[in-house]
Amino acid sequence: MFDLLVLGSGVAGLTTALRGAAAGMSVLVLTKGELASSATRFAQGGVAAAIAGSDTPEMHLADTLVAGAGSCDVDAVRALVNEGPLRVRELAAMGAAFDTAPGDHGEELLLAREGGHSVARVVHAGGDATGAEIERALVAAVRRSDRMEVREGWFAVDLIVETARCRGIVALDDRGAATDVRASETVLATGGAGQCYAVTTNPLLSTGDGIALALRAGVACADVEFVQFHPTALCLESMPRPLLSEALRGEGAVLRDEHGSAFMVGEHPMADLAPRDVVSLAAARRISASGIDHVWLDATMIERLEERFPTIWAACAESGLDPRRSGYRWHRPPTISRVAW
Ligand SMILES: Cc1cc2nc3c(=O)[nH]c(=O)nc-3n(C[C@H](O)[C@H](O)[C@H](O)COP(=O)(O)OP(=O)(O)OC[C@H]3O[C@@H](n4cnc5c(N)ncnc54)[C@H](O)[C@@H]3O)c2cc1C
Repeated sequence: MFDLLVLGSGVAGLTTALRGAAAGMSVLVLTKGELASSATRFAQGGVAAAIAGSDTPEMHLADTLVAGAGSCDVDAVRALVNEGPLRVRELAAMGAAFDTAPGDHGEELLLAREGGHSVARVVHAGGDATGAEIERALVAAVRRSDRMEVREGWFAVDLIVETARCRGIVALDDRGAATDVRASETVLATGGAGQCYAVTTNPLLSTGDGIALALRAGVACADVEFVQFHPTALCLESMPRPLLSEALRGEGAVLRDEHGSAFMVGEHPMADLAPRDVVSLAAARRISASGIDHVWLDATMIERLEERFPTIWAACAESGLDPRRSGYRWHRPPTISRVAW
């Protein structure tokens, strides 16, 4: 019997587990793949936090509320913007190596800009491999802890509910046998459900298991209409689609239609850095009007793209695409990054 059972080993699960252990709880992390296996490790662009001297949590709050278009839970946004800088520093103290450069006060965090943000405030690692670095640091911290047990290759299938309380779960163990795992508290941190969609950037493990087993146990699920999605990914047959991080547009990349027109200008005052829903809607309109199943992302102006975005560079190279190429004839079949809808 554990004090705390955490299902899932992404950033949510491992952070909760470390917090529980620090509070003196006996903790079990149970995860269906290997410990590092998660959507977290595929996160590219980074973590938004008001860290720059010229930035404030109030500015981050204002940007988030505008992007949220009336749907934000203001208390939750306040927690996010106020605690963000502290959480980034905690991750760094745990060993996450965020990208830095020499500044006036020694090594300073490099900050990128993404859609909906009025200033650069996105901390990143390995250029565009932020999630891999955060997951690596969290896994290392969990492995160091002596208050934690880890079960890899265990698949949670049902909650055990007794006298209206969750007392643990039924899991298929690493040999496929159904086993009860009991705990005083159970946290579902099993990630998203991107694989429910025909087109997704989410890894194969994002199958909404936690939502399903909670619903089966009669747990009320809130906010299911809020699904995070990426407006831009490479238009290939492969699934998941290789993500083209919003940070590309933060560095100057421009969405173009089949005539080469930069169509976000005129759609929104922030043009290509408009919030995701605005960008997606504008791209969908162009796609529907043109009858072509994609638009284009012109990244030819980004210098040293291979250093700043090594993950995207590798995905393009694997597909025979060279994002540095200019002089593109827009009505021809694409030879630079295509963006799926
Ligand atoms: C390509 C990509 C790029 C992204 N880029 C960014 C970014 O730049 N910035 C940003 O803020 N966010 C980004 N995100 C989103 C971010 O990665 C996720 O919101 C976040 O990682 C979710 O973390 P999580 O811990 O909730 O879930 P996950 O990291 O998905 O972890 C879920 C865990 O639960 C386990 N699990 C699932 N079902 C079961 C089961 N039945 N039994 C046992 N274990 C189970 C999984 O194996 C996994 O370990 C990106 C996402 C993707 C896919």
